[in-house]
Amino acid sequence: MTVEPGRSGENWDDLPRIAAGDSFDFACAGCGGCCRGRRDLVLSGYDLYRIARRLGLSPRIVAGAFCKSYLAPQTLLPALRLTPDPRTGNCRFFEGSACAIHAARPLACALYPLGQSIDPVTAKIEYYVQTPLCGVQTDGGRVLNDYLTDAAILDRAGIDARWAVVCTRLSEQLQAAADHPHFAAAVKRVERALYYDYELGDDFYPQFQQNIEILQPLLEKLLA
Ligand code: SF4
Ligand code: SF4
Repeated sequence: MTVEPGRSGENWDDLPRIAAGDSFDFACAGCGGCCRGRRDLVLSGYDLYRIARRLGLSPRIVAGAFCKSYLAPQTLLPALRLTPDPRTGNCRFFEGSACAIHAARPLACALYPLGQSIDPVTAKIEYYVQTPLCGVQTDGGRVLNDYLTDAAILDRAGIDARWAVVCTRLSEQLQAAADHPHFAAAVKRVERALYYDYELGDDFYPQFQQNIEILQPLLEKLLA
C-alpha cells in the first residue's frame, strides 16, 4: 500500500527508496502549493480520527462535512478523500497561507514531498522522494530519520503499517466477494470499522484492533 500525496503522475513504484540515514535536499518554502488544487488526499481511519479530535466532532460528522466517500476501484475498499473548497479548489483546511489543522494534518500532508510505501505482508515501511522536488535547496540536506521525527511520522508508523496490512486483507476478502448479494452491506460494515466506530476520548489503535476483531466474523457470516 502506497501513500500517494503526489500531483505529477509519477510511477511511485519506480522511485528510488531512501534509507533512514540518507539525506535529501529539501526545506519547505512555505509556498502552500501542496494545499492548493488538492483532489487526491485520501484519508486513513487514523487521519480521520485525528482531524475529528482536533475539531471536537465525531468521525462521521467530519466525514460528512469535509469528505467524499467512495469505493476504491482497485481495492474495492470503502475510502474517504478530503473534498476541496468548490470556489478555490484548495483544501478546505487551508486558511490564509497555513493549515488550520496542522498538528492533526493527514499523513500524506505530513509526508509531502516524501511518499511512503508499506509492504502488506511484512509491514516494512519504505520512503521515497517525489520529483521534481518542491521547496528550497539546502546545504547538506535533511536526514530522512530527522525529517520523519520532526513531522511526527515515526510516532504513528506502527498504526499506519497495521492499517496497510489490515486493509490489504479486507481488500482481498471484498474482491473475492464482489458478486455476492451482500457485497454492498459488507462494504458499509467495513467502512464503519475502519472510519466511524471510534470514541474520541479513547486511543485509536486499541479501538481499531477491536473493530477488526468484531468485523471479521461478521464479514465471514455476511459473505458466506
Ligand atoms: S490538511 Fe492542511 S496540510 Fe493538508 S492539504 Fe489541507 S491545508 Fe494543506
Ligand atoms: S511542502 Fe513543498 S509545496 Fe508544500 S508548502 Fe512546502 S515547499 Fe510548498
